[in-house]
Amino acid sequence: MFFLRALILIVVAVLLIYWLRRWTNRTSGPGESPSQGLSCCSYCKVNFPSSESVSEGNQIYCCEAHRLAARQSNEQ
Ligand SMILES: [Zn+2]
Repeated sequence: MFFLRALILIVVAVLLIYWLRRWTNRTSGPGESPSQGLSCCSYCKVNFPSSESVSEGNQIYCCEAHRLAARQSNEQ
């Protein structure tokens, strides 16, 4: 019986560590996003997360619409 109890304890401990790791990864995820930095849209000058950026050449835009709008204004 001692062996069975030890086995159950080990399984519970492993599951607990696994769950704790998943939980800490999940909570640290959103906390890291502000440190990713903001980009400034070349068209409307609004700051937005760099992960959402749309780039063309060395210009960065907040959305596809502003990228197209900036391209059209450059062509005129
Ligand atoms: Zn914009």
